[in-house]
Amino acid sequence: MQPRGCKGSVQPALLAFCLMGLLFGHSPTHAERAATQYLQPQTQQPTVSRDVSLMSTRVVFSIVLDNNIDNSTDNNTTSAEKAIDQAINEFRRIEAVMSEWQPDSEVSRINRNAGGDAVEISFELFRLLQAARQISTLSDGAFDISFRSAGKLWDFRKATVPEPDQVQQAIQHIDYRRLELSAPAMDSEVSEQGELPKARISHAETSIGLGAIAKGYAVDRAAQLFRQAGFDAFSINAGGDLYVAGRKDENLWKVGIQHPRERDKLMANLPASNLAVATSGDYERFFIHNGQRYSHIINPHTGYPASDCQSVTIIAERAFWADALATAVFVLGPSKGLALVETMNGVETLIVDDQGEVVMSSGFQGTR
Ligand code: AMP
Ligand code: MG
Repeated sequence: MQPRGCKGSVQPALLAFCLMGLLFGHSPTHAERAATQYLQPQTQQPTVSRDVSLMSTRVVFSIVLDNNIDNSTDNNTTSAEKAIDQAINEFRRIEAVMSEWQPDSEVSRINRNAGGDAVEISFELFRLLQAARQISTLSDGAFDISFRSAGKLWDFRKATVPEPDQVQQAIQHIDYRRLELSAPAMDSEVSEQGELPKARISHAETSIGLGAIAKGYAVDRAAQLFRQAGFDAFSINAGGDLYVAGRKDENLWKVGIQHPRERDKLMANLPASNLAVATSGDYERFFIHNGQRYSHIINPHTGYPASDCQSVTIIAERAFWADALATAVFVLGPSKGLALVETMNGVETLIVDDQGEVVMSSGFQGTR
């Protein structure tokens, strides 16, 4: 553990790249839900990239072509383009299953039946809901996908603060334990009876939303597809959630973590290979009312936006885990959040607290 002051050193090359990111395509009207990080490839090799809007976020896919795989770069280019097409379809498929805004999604079906019967869901959603529950337990309810009753009181377009009694009322409906999950007797994708898992919300007023974990999951799935297509050097950057893969023992990418209060500054940069980096911040979706900043991450215990951190970056093996943990630690605050991360193998964090001070976990490898 190494608490430090907040002045970050900015490498000129990274800053230039960061500014490039601002110049090319960062649209202020884009409904980004998370914080932004910048990627700099450390290679001269040709790269196939695509920049596309998915899950209400700007997503950038890049695959580095390896001339050694095949002497014909054309073939590599074609298969990289195909792999990116597949990844885009996968993001859309996951959104259709997991969005709480699409009426036909599995999540919407669970929400519609709250207080009623259990509904059948896919194994895929079942497993992600189990993981969400695990993170809720680990974070003592700081991460809670049933935050929605309080979440919907906060309208970031209208910038209005709800009445305290509305907030009090709303938090009565938050409790991740109200989501009941049951697996078929044989927990296998090909259960003999072809049965599916089931989910049920026990209280009619409670509903769930996967905004803090589904995007990370989609990033993981895209990474899996790229690997299956034979690529081992690529990056996927979905707003605040990213995954980078490089050849063995080679740091192909540098990830720049954005300063939460100065858009053109980086807090830190880290060489990265075969890992996920996710940032939750209070600077992408927020409003200021009477001098107080209100952002999109809700403390489920109070019903108010969490305010003990300006940003939280998590490094982990899997993006869904990094995504959810960043939200959890953002709510927990620097001291409890750091303590939680220090108990986890293979997970590191950089936290900017409410005063702009930086706290890093003991194994954080980035430079500042
Ligand atoms: P992220 O940007 O990954 O931190 O995710 C923030 C999004 O997660 C919000 O826009 C909400 O959809 C959802 N969310 C807000 N507060 C919580 C919470 N305490 N636990 C789980 N999800 C949350
Ligand atoms: Mg998250």
